[in-house]
Amino acid sequence: MNFVDLSRQYERIKENLNNRLQKVFSSCRFILGEEILELENKLSEFVGRKYCVTCSSGTDALLMPLLAWNIGHGDAVFTTPFTFIATSEVIRLVGATPVFVDIDANTFNIDPNKLEEKIQQVLKQNKLTPKAIIPVDLFGLPADYPKILEIANKYGLYVLEDAAQSFGASLNGQRTCSFGDVSATSFFPAKPLGCYGDGGAIFTDDEEMYNLLLSIRVHGQGSNKYENVRLGINGRMDTIQAVVLLTKLEIFEEELESRNFVARLYNEKLSNKVITPHIPYGYVSSWAQYSVLTESPEEREMLLTKFKEKNIPTAIYYPIPLHLQKVNSDLGYKVGDFPVAEDVSKRIFSLPMHPYLTESEIEMIANAI
Ligand SMILES: *Cc1c(COP(=O)(O)O)cnc(C)c1O
Repeated sequence: MNFVDLSRQYERIKENLNNRLQKVFSSCRFILGEEILELENKLSEFVGRKYCVTCSSGTDALLMPLLAWNIGHGDAVFTTPFTFIATSEVIRLVGATPVFVDIDANTFNIDPNKLEEKIQQVLKQNKLTPKAIIPVDLFGLPADYPKILEIANKYGLYVLEDAAQSFGASLNGQRTCSFGDVSATSFFPAKPLGCYGDGGAIFTDDEEMYNLLLSIRVHGQGSNKYENVRLGINGRMDTIQAVVLLTKLEIFEEELESRNFVARLYNEKLSNKVITPHIPYGYVSSWAQYSVLTESPEEREMLLTKFKEKNIPTAIYYPIPLHLQKVNSDLGYKVGDFPVAEDVSKRIFSLPMHPYLTESEIEMIANAI
């Protein structure tokens, strides 16, 4: 059994995919081929944004908007400590300071009440200038945007949605990748919509931001590639990856339904054994991960050993919160600073999750507990 089974999906799409790939190979338009624009149009329509800029990874999708806003030294960017390292990494890469805010114990997403407290604290200390918030839609569940956007408005902060795990999810009928000023997603193979390598996309409704991102994606180009007007990166997506995504997008809605079916079955079979995911009213997850909590760290150890004996793959997202990572040690955080995130990191684990899990496999996984 695989944690994420990409081969079953490949069996389903391979004929269509191989035909489309052949076209790219014979056209030789490997960089910014016409399929890139076709994909960008389809993606922006899917999420309900005006503009989409595809790019080289989810990490670069987070980095490029920060470059566009000129966020850097002396600026504070508020985010969650319970996420993948890329979220704080990009803040540090531009020279700004990540200011962590503890998570909600039920959703594992940034806690809006603590967010406002943290902003006021930074303002009072008067050392850093609050500039932006990066909420993360963890495991595919959108963050609490109604509250976050209200706070962002009140304090004049940009919101960059880290939707790397939540492509396809929604909140009150509105798709992720459409919240805040700019949204970033990832098409890493194991994400809900994945390509066959690295890839990502950025979404915005702001035309000026769109043009800045197009420039930053190609080394800060001006009117052409060899006139460079700002700092940028090599941030393009390969045409081949766009073709993979165009092919997968055709079956994506169906796959989202299957993911939700798998999650419902897991909930039914596991809710009396572990703490199953909490999806608040109005929210639909894209189930990048199906993560449960045990009562204690010891119980997690015991269950993970059982799964291992039965050859059922599991994972821990995330064993070390970002404020306790060595790379962030110079920020001065210590154990106890974010009690909710620290507690959750000791009791959480994830089960296999993908649209092609069968009922009997789910049954077998649930019975292992
Ligand atoms: C995967 C992920 C990223 C980075 O995406 P890559 O495509 O791997 O660069 C950023 N943030 C979160 C929350 C992620 O899960």
